[in-house]
Amino acid sequence: MVGNGWEIVNLQECHRSTMGGDVANWLRCRSSALSFGRRWTFFCISARCVYCGGRGDLGAIDLCEACLTSLPWLPAGGHGDREARALFAYQSPIDEDLRALKFHGDLRPARVLGALCAARIALDGVAVDGIVPVPLHGQRLRERGFNQTSRLARELAAWLGVPLQEQWLLRSRDTAAQTSLPAPERRRNVQGAFALSTRGCGALARAALTEPALGPPASTSPRLRILLLDDVLTTGATLQAAATAFGAAVDLHRWTVAMAMPAKIAKPT
Ligand SMILES: [Zn+2]
Repeated sequence: MVGNGWEIVNLQECHRSTMGGDVANWLRCRSSALSFGRRWTFFCISARCVYCGGRGDLGAIDLCEACLTSLPWLPAGGHGDREARALFAYQSPIDEDLRALKFHGDLRPARVLGALCAARIALDGVAVDGIVPVPLHGQRLRERGFNQTSRLARELAAWLGVPLQEQWLLRSRDTAAQTSLPAPERRRNVQGAFALSTRGCGALARAALTEPALGPPASTSPRLRILLLDDVLTTGATLQAAATAFGAAVDLHRWTVAMAMPAKIAKPT
C-alpha cells in the first residue's frame, strides 16, 4: 500500500463498532480505581462527551459509549513495523484531537485518548512497569511549552496505575520535523537522536541487579517492562530510534495513539 517497505494496514479496515463494548466496560470498572481527585472532579462536573456534548456514561472520562464505538479503531495486533501498535487510524476525529493537543495545548483530547489507550493496552493483556513518552528536544520543549506525548502518557499512566517515567529518555540532539521529510530520510534523521538519562540508566542497572542468580540471562528474560509511547506512527522511524536507546535489557512495548500514511501527515488537511 505504501512504497517505503513498511507493511501498513489498510486504513479503511478500521473497526468502527467492534472495539467499543469491551473498552466501555473496562473504563467503567477502572474508573472506581482512579485517584479520589479524578473521581471527585467528574462527580462534581458531570462529564460531557467531547464529541457530541451528550452525557458521559463511561465513568471518569469525557466520552459517551455511542461516540466511543464510532471512533476509527484499528484492529488489535501489530502495525507498521509489526512491533509498534497503534490504536486509531489518523483520521477524523482523532487527527483533529491530536492537532488540538499539539498545537493549541487542548488537554481534553489527552484525557480521552490516554484513557482509551489504557483500556486497549489492558485488554490486550500488556503488563508494564512504567510509561516512557517519546521526548522532545530541550529547545523544542521550551518553544512549545509542553510535550504533547507526555500529556497523553500522564493520562495513560494514571488509568493503568503505573509510574510515568518521563525523565528516563532524552532527545540528545535536535532533529528536523519528521513531517517535513520523505519516508526514506526519516530514519536517518532520528538515528542516534535518543539516549537514556542518568536516571534511566540507574533504573535499568537496578533492574538488572534484581535478576535471579540462577535465572536465564537478562537478554532473554527482561525484568523491566517499559511502554514507549508516541502520538502518531508513520514509518516507525522515531519509535525505532527511541527504542534503540534502551538496548535489549528491557521488555519494550511500542504504542502510538494513531497510525497515518506518511503523505497524509506531511499534508494535513
Ligand atoms: Zn458522544
